[in-house]
Amino acid sequence: MLKIDLTGKKAFIAGIGDDQGFGWAIAKALSEAGAEILIGCWAPIVKIFTTSFQNGKFDESRKLSNGELLQYTKVYPMDAMYDSMEDVPESVRNNKRYQSLSNYTLSEVAKAVEDDHSQIDIIVHSLANAPEVTKPLLETSRQGYLSAISSSAYSFISLLQHFGPIMSKESAALCLSYIASERVIPRYGGGMSSAKAALESDMRTLAFEAAKKWNMRVNCISAGPLRSRAAKAIGMIEDMIAYSKQNAPLEKDLNSEEVANAAAFLLSSLSSAITGETLYVDNGLHSMGLALDSKALHKEEATSSVH
Ligand code: NAD
Repeated sequence: MLKIDLTGKKAFIAGIGDDQGFGWAIAKALSEAGAEILIGCWAPIVKIFTTSFQNGKFDESRKLSNGELLQYTKVYPMDAMYDSMEDVPESVRNNKRYQSLSNYTLSEVAKAVEDDHSQIDIIVHSLANAPEVTKPLLETSRQGYLSAISSSAYSFISLLQHFGPIMSKESAALCLSYIASERVIPRYGGGMSSAKAALESDMRTLAFEAAKKWNMRVNCISAGPLRSRAAKAIGMIEDMIAYSKQNAPLEKDLNSEEVANAAAFLLSSLSSAITGETLYVDNGLHSMGLALDSKALHKEEATSSVH
């Protein structure tokens, strides 16, 4: 039987803060395939995440198919905005949610993982942030735009830069994108669409450079809409889910497990000849050139060729 086998592999998943997002689902899928899970959690929410985990808040969604609960080896506080302590402004260092933490810049996180494990095999970038995400691009400030690019796109470069030297011989990396990188999605603002375009482009260049330097494969999943915490903050996720259901070839909800299964494939040796690829896991929505629910269409006629 052909199966995804990640036994003995160590995976660092950056961007888990609860049990609702893609990072969590990817952790479960990789764990199901036998990988050991290390979590990178945004520094200001690390306490609430670990406390909720320990208090059993996620127990229901921790369940794996064999009945066991998802386990992680360690949670590393991280902030994808910063590469080293010199980058961290005083106001952040002294913020009460950062004060008690150390080693949360990306170079320090990589060093901490190296100290604990010497080497890892898989790295997942499942994070994004834009302080002005609810503003149209035309109204986005320079600072807001650069912040979106910094935390949502440059952070992937930085992760590979710092983790590359501790990745094993046949390692793989993955980032998560959204169709707004290449098509206009009104209300996905604040420079987030620009950040996703940069992320996908960088992913291709990194796939080339990281293959030469570390024999690493680098891929991306362009996922359909999911009701995660980050997506709810954008404020239009219900509309995006409804739109997808009415207009995608597959008229159904997108489960985070479906994205996670594709991630497990891209991070396993089953995809050993795939790198520099953006794989759409979106019920096929990206392939449509017509909104079937448009008021301008007579729906029956638009779909009549397949009925
Ligand atoms: P999520 O809320 O589960 O994940 C986003 C994570 O980013 C959170 O855990 C948050 O704490 C973390 N984060 C934010 N700023 C950070 C920083 N400076 N440093 C470190 N971590 C930080 O939401 P999600 O929707 O699962 O997002 C995961 C990825 O999937 C993102 O790249 C997102 O853009 C992408 N994506 C989401 C959707 C969707 O509809 N939800 C669709 C396509 C792509």
